[in-house]
Amino acid sequence: MKSGSKPVAVVVGSLHYDIIIQTDHRPRKGETVIGSAWQPKFGGKGGNQAVAAAQAGLDVRFAGAVGEDDFGQFLLSQLAAGGVDASRVLRTTQAASGMSVAIEDAEGDYGAVVVSGANSLPISGALDEAGLWQDARILILQNELPEAMNLAAARAARNASVPVCLNAAPYRALPGDLAELVDILVVNAIEAEQFCGLEVTDSDSAVEAARRLAEQFPTVVVTAGEHGVVGIQSAQPPVVLPSLPVRLISTHGAGDVFVGTFAEAFARSLPFDACLAAANSAAAAHVSRPRIPSAN
Ligand code: ADP
Repeated sequence: MKSGSKPVAVVVGSLHYDIIIQTDHRPRKGETVIGSAWQPKFGGKGGNQAVAAAQAGLDVRFAGAVGEDDFGQFLLSQLAAGGVDASRVLRTTQAASGMSVAIEDAEGDYGAVVVSGANSLPISGALDEAGLWQDARILILQNELPEAMNLAAARAARNASVPVCLNAAPYRALPGDLAELVDILVVNAIEAEQFCGLEVTDSDSAVEAARRLAEQFPTVVVTAGEHGVVGIQSAQPPVVLPSLPVRLISTHGAGDVFVGTFAEAFARSLPFDACLAAANSAAAAHVSRPRIPSAN
């Protein structure tokens, strides 16, 4: 890293155009209800983590795919506005942009449908480009692209000696060939439970889950919402941090801010406990931040 320049991260991941609809109650079969408001939102764990990493201070290169449609245009412009290099995002006529619709009722319960669209397409061309990996300090992956794409990205990163951070969200079984390329595994309480069959309900169970996962991965981070964060690196004793006392507004996207900020600190080679503390503090600020009110 040249002095004064930002460390580089590569994010290979998903982009979704999310529509959130507010309504009194969610429609039953055959029912049409009149909603009160809707908002478009830039989303996809890949996109959210890339923007969080850029905002934390990384130079972020993104590889992914969108359709040749207005949603794709919106996603690219939001990536650029978030300070992310979107020049390697594939624009394709083979599929529509990834999107989701969530219907939220007056109680705050919601149901959602996600369509992966262009996120399901191969983007191997972008991964093979040497410039993607040049000077990169970390690769960030999630589980919203096909497993074959994560594997191709992790292999390319390993060839370029770039550490691989997998945020295994949403949970899916991790095949051995991909698992052995993962240097840092980040999971929340639910994903930790899905990985190791141990319910994570407090700090002690988060530590136990992290210990079990650390048998398989060199570095493990378990975020347990209000129960705090546990990290284990290189078989060292666990680092346990309580969650910061904040006024909770919404935890939506907290994990993405955590991962993006952790990656920034890691890429700067900060000590592991400082990486966890930076991420914990940015995610706490995020959960207590008022959201942009509906545009309509
Ligand atoms: P996800 O959003 O992926 O489900 P978590 O719920 O574990 O993940 O939240 C990620 C991080 O956000 C936590 O590790 C913590 O830093 C922060 N966070 C979440 N909930 C709270 C809370 N109630 N108070 C303070 N920080 C929180």
